[in-house]
Amino acid sequence: MTQRNAVKIVILFGAPGAGKGTVAQHLLDNYGVVHFSTGNLLRNEVKNGTSIGKEVEAILSSGKLVGDDVVNRVVESNLQKALSGNDVVLLDGYPRTVEQAKFLDAIDEGNLKSSIRVLELDVDHEVVVARIAGRVVCSKCGATFNASQLNGNTVCSRCGGELIKRADDSEDVVRRRLQEYVNMTLPVSRYYADRLAKVSGEGTPEEVARNVDETFRDFEIEKRR
Ligand code: AMP
Repeated sequence: MTQRNAVKIVILFGAPGAGKGTVAQHLLDNYGVVHFSTGNLLRNEVKNGTSIGKEVEAILSSGKLVGDDVVNRVVESNLQKALSGNDVVLLDGYPRTVEQAKFLDAIDEGNLKSSIRVLELDVDHEVVVARIAGRVVCSKCGATFNASQLNGNTVCSRCGGELIKRADDSEDVVRRRLQEYVNMTLPVSRYYADRLAKVSGEGTPEEVARNVDETFRDFEIEKRR
């Protein structure tokens, strides 16, 4: 039996549109966690016009995966800072390939490995396509909304920012991303088999939140008081 350390990293795993954003918000509101999204980091690189941003811009809007080298570089240069406090780091969108998972396990000379857990959100792919077709995001704070719940509002209820459709949220792109997920990312969930808990991502946000809380109890991560 391998030695298990206190959990430092939880990988939030699930197909695009499985509800990772909503679960991440629940965890941020209720636990001492820091959100670490490679999608957000890469979109920031594009927004800031960095050399990495220029390299990945076209790939991001096509829905394909950015190369392991580039993503690993972005993770390496941002992860230590995220890990420096007491909060659990919530990895969202990374790792997506077995190569990336191996890279993460090797960080800090392999000392992180036993403190990593995976929470996989399980949702039927047709449910995902329907969800993403109606998804809009705030251009300022990144909050996600479903068009059906907005009652015609075009600005973010949290910060007043403009609501936009992400360039990679069309049905064609979504289906391609789901196929990429099946081809590349399922092997990652197999790689993590002994550190992974599956949680149903279908049902109301409250039901999903209850399932997630149960898994966090199993991970021995306490709610913030
Ligand atoms: P996300 O916001 O997690 O859905 O990521 C948006 C896009 O960023 C993806 O479709 C990929 O093009 C890229 N991306 C984010 N994380 C990764 C990763 N771990 N590996 C490769 N590409 C990534």
